[in-house]
Amino acid sequence: MTLFGGGVQRAGKKTFYFGDRNYPTFSFAQHRLKRPQDKRDMMAKIQTPQAVRGTQDIFGEDQERFQHVVETFERVRRLYGFKGVQMPVFEPTAVFARSLGETTDVVSKEMYSFEDRGGDSLTLRPEFTAGISRAYLTNGWQQHVPLKLSTHGPLFRYERPQKGRYRQFHQLDAEIIGVSEAAADVELLCFADQLLKELGISDGVTLQLNTLGDAESRDAWRDALVEHFQAHRADLSKDSQDRLERNPLRILDSKERQDRPIADSAPDIDAYLSTEAKEFFAQVTEGLDACGVSWTRNSRLVRGLDYYRHTAFEFVTDRLGAQGTVLAGGRYDGLIESLGGPVTPAVGWAAGIERLGMLLADAPAVPLELAILPMGDTASVKALSVASELRGSQFSAEIFGSGKFKKRMARANQVGALAAIIIGEDEMASGKVQFKNLATGEQTELDVTAVIEKMWDLRFSEDLDSFDADLTDLEQDVAQLGEGD
Ligand code: ATP
Ligand code: MG
Repeated sequence: MTLFGGGVQRAGKKTFYFGDRNYPTFSFAQHRLKRPQDKRDMMAKIQTPQAVRGTQDIFGEDQERFQHVVETFERVRRLYGFKGVQMPVFEPTAVFARSLGETTDVVSKEMYSFEDRGGDSLTLRPEFTAGISRAYLTNGWQQHVPLKLSTHGPLFRYERPQKGRYRQFHQLDAEIIGVSEAAADVELLCFADQLLKELGISDGVTLQLNTLGDAESRDAWRDALVEHFQAHRADLSKDSQDRLERNPLRILDSKERQDRPIADSAPDIDAYLSTEAKEFFAQVTEGLDACGVSWTRNSRLVRGLDYYRHTAFEFVTDRLGAQGTVLAGGRYDGLIESLGGPVTPAVGWAAGIERLGMLLADAPAVPLELAILPMGDTASVKALSVASELRGSQFSAEIFGSGKFKKRMARANQVGALAAIIIGEDEMASGKVQFKNLATGEQTELDVTAVIEKMWDLRFSEDLDSFDADLTDLEQDVAQLGEGD
């Protein structure tokens, strides 16, 4: 008996022998039939994990929009003297539960809370303000008052995902802690207004402003609201009947159609405002008028979180459907106290980065300045050193190293490069490169230092061109104004 004796019976039954052991027979035919099935089974076993519902992988144009929003924010916040700060993504659950109010939607339905391995209850931050207030107390930041802080990053809320509403989303955030004067509210609103203008999205976005009064005004108004809603209790939606016990102010911005007439006929806060609260609101609106920030009063505007006092505001657009609030905030003089700190005045806002990005007319272009086209292996090495020299001189440069020359040149044109640098055998010998201005087609042989000089000229003339274009627009606007008179 030989090992594997018995020969090969194609498609028939074959007995395997291993030493003296007689292994069970099986059919090759069956085996062949089974294989595709096995393959499918195997593929089924290694399933690609899906992204978590409501998260985004931000790429391409969306990333350009996102980045542009963040960069504009970072630039403008410096003009207003806000210091950047980095905050933890998770906090003890109590940080949010206490400050946002146990009955708010965020705390009661939307938080990602979990126990860590040490048994502590933690929550992925659903907003920035509570964490910043916690940090203010635990780090003794009182010594830095008045404190103007800004940050941005991801936040987490268990919501029903839709356009402009995600479970991991991103916000810009600005806070002023330790200033009780209305000047702080005005400064923050000017900052928000300038941000929207610089992003070029302020058209069709309105600032809706309200006051929730001081604690005394708010309590009196709340009692009046409860009385009004009690009288119509039976006609309210189930949600609003619940809110009546827990958080009657929230009925005012209910989106249920049956609640609207009852909410719309509810008493305004105005009749309940204390003299101080009225005076404070007047100072805010005067400040805004003085700075040329337009606003409209929305006496139905209440914010979703419990901590607001006095000023409450939202920048709203009708261009994003139900997700129309792009930036929102207000004064939260009671929050730091609710975290066990001293009475501390504070005001702030947050804006959804994705929603701001969606409003941008075009994804901002990221033009490449120089495309480098080496011809051959030695030129490829040279291309690397030329590229680092150019990048070191603050020009964006990319090597288009492989493929047909014509195709590479077409790509350089397609990405909008200002110029191409061609490095061939001859150039290797002369130590120079071919410099081609892609706008004019003009081509010259230059050394890298001369390329850098040329590029400064090109960049400068681009700036001048866009300045000229702005000037022409301005002249046309002025001319049109003149015609209107
Ligand atoms: P909404 O009424 O849309 O739920 P909100 O009142 O809960 O908003 P805030 O807590 O005030 O929102 O957050 C400030 C901003 O953050 C919002 O105006 C919005 O631009 C953005 N934002 C809030 N929740 C989300 C989310 N789930 N996805 C994307 N952006 C969001
Ligand atoms: Mg919400």
